[in-house]
Amino acid sequence: MKNINNSGHNLKSFIDEDLIWSEMEKATNPEPAQVRDILTKAKERKGLTPFEAAVLLKNTDKDLDNEIFETAMEVKRGIYGNRLVLFAPLYISNECVNQCAYCGFNAENKDLNRRTLSSEEIRKEVEVLEKIGHKRLLLVYGEHPKYNADWIAQTVRDVYSVTSDKSGEIRRVNINCAPLDVDGFKKLHDVGIGTYQCFHESYHQETYKKVHLAGKKTDYLWRLYAMHRAQEAGIDDVGMGALFGLFDPIFEVMGLLYHAKQLEKDCGVGPHTISFPRIEPAQGSELAFNPPYLSSNHNFKKVVAVLRLAVPYTGLILTTRENADFRTELLEVGVSQISAGSRTYPGAYSDPQYDRPDVQQFCIGDSRSLDEVIRSLIEGEQSYVPSWCTACYRLGRTGEHFMELAKTGFIQKFCLPNGLLTFKEYLEDYGSEETKKLGNELIRKELDSYADPDRRKLLTDRVTRMEAGERD
Ligand code: SAM
Ligand code: SF4
Repeated sequence: MKNINNSGHNLKSFIDEDLIWSEMEKATNPEPAQVRDILTKAKERKGLTPFEAAVLLKNTDKDLDNEIFETAMEVKRGIYGNRLVLFAPLYISNECVNQCAYCGFNAENKDLNRRTLSSEEIRKEVEVLEKIGHKRLLLVYGEHPKYNADWIAQTVRDVYSVTSDKSGEIRRVNINCAPLDVDGFKKLHDVGIGTYQCFHESYHQETYKKVHLAGKKTDYLWRLYAMHRAQEAGIDDVGMGALFGLFDPIFEVMGLLYHAKQLEKDCGVGPHTISFPRIEPAQGSELAFNPPYLSSNHNFKKVVAVLRLAVPYTGLILTTRENADFRTELLEVGVSQISAGSRTYPGAYSDPQYDRPDVQQFCIGDSRSLDEVIRSLIEGEQSYVPSWCTACYRLGRTGEHFMELAKTGFIQKFCLPNGLLTFKEYLEDYGSEETKKLGNELIRKELDSYADPDRRKLLTDRVTRMEAGERD
């Protein structure tokens, strides 16, 4: 593990823009044979180089694009089966000293009512989320001097402290906050956060500078090395991302992959997750209404498919920024985690006065409830098993250890059955009658598909005991 200077100075960017441009140029107009060779390699689930990813993204032949989607589906199914992790974001604060040109929370947006939840208010939000059936939360914060590591750590303790009736408890708290120094990250590690998430927004320095107008976030290198510092502090599940719409999406995908490679080289493990938010309209941001690099749905789907092939064992996260139908398409080509029933204003889950579309951080494309999302996952042409399993995290199987296990078929063997049990728990404790009926049919079908009779019996017994009230 490389020691990362706390101040972020004396460090150089490992994003070599000249190299990315020259590789993008070289990848232009690829021959079909080259695309197919790369797809053959991708099927081995060993990942792709940034250049190979660029070749797939530069392809313009529609038939070959379909082959890219099919290969991504095959790789996704092979590793993750039909398991899908569900979570909800919990916005803790929207006070922010930064001026990110794309974000409704930017300091210049004088029309936004600023709010920072107290411990009591956080607990109220968590109670509501637990009563809906959520088990995993992503806490989201603006950047402000008063949100220091001690304060953020307390908000995490607040969340973990709430246990409602039935199986209600939050089992994994992930964090999306401004980058901290190593000591700050240690404090988050000590309170048991799951993944530390931070999106680099744009890997292209000039664009980065153009859209970050004031505040600490203007410091490209401080942000670029955030994942390294988190790893140094012991947080070995880190989540990267780029905000699509700011710059050339192919450049951003390559930036993400070079970032992942560097982490792997310096820290021994790449990112646990990658997110790819697309810019949505946001109050007080002209740029968000008119993003300079808008991708078509087809090209965005390709971004997701190519990421799946390039980093097969990294979780791909999709939020409610995208609409319901498109989310379904993206699930098929690679997404492994989705948020559902989201609100993006602090307090909006528990207090109807904050649950208004005009005050959220950005426009939400999928406003269905958790139960509705789950029902559609079961009913769809391709049914998915929603999972709230956090066993790996609870047993310390994180970072490099998790990645090694994932490569051995662990997700299919262990995560899927565990996920099935957490799904049963959801249906028993929180599912609507209709969802429960459909969900139980799906569970039965899944159990019937187990070839090993001992395993099938073990799981069937657990499911029966859960119906009688037993919980994990
Ligand atoms: N303040 C922290 C930061 O900037 O890293 C964390 C919270 S910030 C609200 C989380 C993410 O929201 C940002 O990293 C950015 O990618 C995304 N975001 C901001 N404005 C957006 C918009 N208009 N549409 C979609 N996503 C947006
Ligand atoms: Fe603040 Fe984050 Fe929004 Fe930027 S993206 S304005 S740092 S909340």
